[in-house]
Amino acid sequence: MASAASHHPEPQSPRTPQATQPAHLRLDGSALSDALDAIAGFVSEFEPGRYGGEDAARLVTWFTRAERLCAAGKTLAATRAAAANCHRTTGQRSAAHRLAGVTGESVGNAVELLRLGETLESHPGVDEAYRTGRLSPSGAKAVAGAVAVNPNSEGELLQVAEGDTLSRLRDRCLRARAEGRSKTDAAHVYEGIRAARHCRTWTDADGAFRLDARLTPDAGAAVLSSLSAGSDRAFRRARAAGIRESRDAYAADALVALVTGRGISVPDQTTSARRSREGGCGTGDGADDDAGPDCHVLEPKATVHLRVDLEALRRGSVGDGERCEIPGVGPVPIEVARDLMGDAITDLVITNGINVTTVCHLGRSIPAPLKTALIERDAICVVPGCDVAAGLEIDHWVVPFAAGGPASLENLARLCGHHHYLRTHKGFRLDGGPGNWRWRPPAAQKGPGGPSPGLAGSADRDFRSEVPELFGGE
Ligand SMILES: [Zn+2]
Repeated sequence: MASAASHHPEPQSPRTPQATQPAHLRLDGSALSDALDAIAGFVSEFEPGRYGGEDAARLVTWFTRAERLCAAGKTLAATRAAAANCHRTTGQRSAAHRLAGVTGESVGNAVELLRLGETLESHPGVDEAYRTGRLSPSGAKAVAGAVAVNPNSEGELLQVAEGDTLSRLRDRCLRARAEGRSKTDAAHVYEGIRAARHCRTWTDADGAFRLDARLTPDAGAAVLSSLSAGSDRAFRRARAAGIRESRDAYAADALVALVTGRGISVPDQTTSARRSREGGCGTGDGADDDAGPDCHVLEPKATVHLRVDLEALRRGSVGDGERCEIPGVGPVPIEVARDLMGDAITDLVITNGINVTTVCHLGRSIPAPLKTALIERDAICVVPGCDVAAGLEIDHWVVPFAAGGPASLENLARLCGHHHYLRTHKGFRLDGGPGNWRWRPPAAQKGPGGPSPGLAGSADRDFRSEVPELFGGE
């Protein structure tokens, strides 16, 4: 694609000064119109089959940049048109309705875009990142919403936006909003969510039953926890029977089982026996009555992990850099955290800044405190750019289990199934550590012997001298 490359600017340097040519600034937009003609010409004649994979991938980068720049231009122009009440001349109900009519998207989307446009005016950092194509429209909406509540977070969020996935950016924005709220605001927002909670059902065009719920984060965490325990069970049974389906499918089975109490499939004896002892279900108070074949699905292996900074807990509100949240769900007000602490299904993780200082389990089924600390530290797959949160596997990433690697916080990390497979079997390596994870494909691993053999190679090295803190002492 050498010929194409020579006609286009490098997409990697989006901040090239371009305002020096007055033609770009002509109010009649003729320069923009010419650029659109050029793009339209290219796309209509575009024959993807003539490009190599790498060249095609580079085109994706260029088109993404064009898309982002156009989105920024559209936002700014639409905000100006809205301020000038252009929709009145055409008799539309609102500026958002007019915008939706032009873009063909929903009115809700148009409202969000106009709100973003207004926020840009008061947040020059977000404005600049959006105009130069460093922020996607979704990223810009998330960041603008958060800096409106917590202006101090602008710099940090813009950094996250450029280097991380949208899902992680949204998590960070949620946290920034929580940090920026006073205790009263936090309680107010929480109450707003609680008051507007809902569970709606409908039948879609295919005839499938659909369901949508909006819950407070603590209620959501309890549901999520029960659902994961149920889908783990469904997964193990399917695996034992040689069946493979998606995790989402098992979660659907778990949902039906939980709501109806009818169960997923045949119960195992141990669980039934334990249920009877605990008097958790059945007709008697713990006698060995036949509690019903599927009664055990009601067993709430539903543990909620709650992470809170000690200082925030003492003070009663969350300050900058502090957290009070349920990993995988999001921030909760301190009052809600205190309520949860009285609950028998909460694992409490108390932190001091970023360090975990205490882990205590407040419920009856006691998982290893280590596992709790790991879930808290690695809420999602640790590979940069990956944000899988479900079905993570615990990996001995420094010293393999087979080589006597200890089960310590330092030696373990949580990886999604895909990355766990690549690391174990395909020579990919994990480096760095918490807060600084690096993922190295085999080709990128330099060394005298070529690509590192990964796991097998690691086992040959003397980790006891390289990482002494893992062995002996604390
Ligand atoms: Zn992953």
